[in-house]
Amino acid sequence: MRHAHVIGAGLAGLSAALSLADAGARVFLYDAAPQAGGRCRSYLDRELGCRVDNGNHLLLSGNRAAMAYLDQIGARGSLTGPAAPEFPFMDLADNRRWVLRPNLGRLPWWIFSAARRVPGTGPADYLDLLRLRRAGPEATVSRTLTHGTLWRDLMEPLAIAALNTPTDRASAALMQAVVAESLGRGGAACIPCWPKVGMSESLIDPALARLAIQRAELRLSCRVAGLETADGRVTALHLPDGRLDLEAGDSVILATPAPVSAQLLPGLTVPEEFEAIVNLHYAHQAPPGFIGLVGGTAEWVFAKPGHVSVTISAANRLVDQDAEALANRVWPEVCRALAIPAGPMPAWRVVKERRATFAATPSQLRQRPGARTSLANLALAGDWTNTGLPATIEGAIRSGRAAAAILSQH
Ligand SMILES: Cc1cc2nc3c(=O)[nH]c(=O)nc-3n(C[C@H](O)[C@H](O)[C@H](O)COP(=O)(O)OP(=O)(O)OC[C@H]3O[C@@H](n4cnc5c(N)ncnc54)[C@H](O)[C@@H]3O)c2cc1C
Repeated sequence: MRHAHVIGAGLAGLSAALSLADAGARVFLYDAAPQAGGRCRSYLDRELGCRVDNGNHLLLSGNRAAMAYLDQIGARGSLTGPAAPEFPFMDLADNRRWVLRPNLGRLPWWIFSAARRVPGTGPADYLDLLRLRRAGPEATVSRTLTHGTLWRDLMEPLAIAALNTPTDRASAALMQAVVAESLGRGGAACIPCWPKVGMSESLIDPALARLAIQRAELRLSCRVAGLETADGRVTALHLPDGRLDLEAGDSVILATPAPVSAQLLPGLTVPEEFEAIVNLHYAHQAPPGFIGLVGGTAEWVFAKPGHVSVTISAANRLVDQDAEALANRVWPEVCRALAIPAGPMPAWRVVKERRATFAATPSQLRQRPGARTSLANLALAGDWTNTGLPATIEGAIRSGRAAAAILSQH
């Protein structure tokens, strides 16, 4: 049986491993960390007394590869969320609340309904989104779209959440890809969902269980320190316990973060600028749900089992700030969002993911390589490869499948 070596057990590596195992390969999966999942993982936080995710992750029903992956590992039922495309929002500046409710079909009649669209906007405002289609490769989101109510209350928060990049630097062309895959396909593609328990329980543990059934071998705390190449192919891997020689017909998928991949494969061009995401977790129990906030510091609030969790994207400006000061600043916003009395701050945890995603700027997009490499038995995967999508779960899973497909032809 052919051996396939997958380096990196984040979502890109897991999706590649599952595809290769399904295609009949004997899979070996290596990760430098003591657990799988990479940037998408859950753990027990002793301070809070519950399991938390390293960061809140929102999926949409239209994330086709992610939904197929969940079906493949039998975990689609582990997600929760509303039955319809509903996005509650609150403006912290004036306490206004509204719910964005796109209709299910492709024809966007919701923009003609004042009860479904952003308050203070009219149907004609939404034509502005067509500008994204005509945006050139150098255009930014901020310069492409008109700055009115629709911008402030929907497009800016959406762009920051999806691209994790300040809008004056974020690529308009990439935003167009996001809109085309979500609102462009109608509300049926925009139903929000997230794990009932945690990211690991939904996306990681069931994948590992399926790989175990397929006799894949998982080696954790196993940093791959080098690749040896000869005659246009990878011939050996440097593992902590020594050199592993590959046999003819063996293949390798490099599913490590961009900087690690560039180190392991000298000469590879990769994105080099990153944006942070800051998550704040508070030990407060609230009915499950989420809400988007504008006009404050907090951007999205999720009520999860045993805690409430806040996401702030494009957060390079915040990563050096004192964690307790940040928690104190955001807690009153959480109380207002959840309409609870502003009592003393409960136990809290601030998680700063400094390199959460690459910066989705026009110049960084040009640095994204495709999955194929000049080495016949090596393909690349990762949310930073040229998936046509921002650095997301959907992009990571698609990248793993694309890399596996290339090697299956090998
Ligand atoms: C806080 C936060 C919030 C997010 N929110 C969302 C969201 O709401 N929706 C969404 O779709 N996406 C979201 N994302 C993005 C999503 O998490 C990523 O796009 C996805 O997890 C990336 O997967 P990956 O496999 O490409 O990379 P990674 O998860 O980084 O996996 C790479 C793996 O390689 C391993 N590795 C590194 N070096 C080596 C080595 N030398 N040898 C072996 N292994 C190695 C690492 O340990 C890691 O496990 C968020 C990310 C963060 C950080």
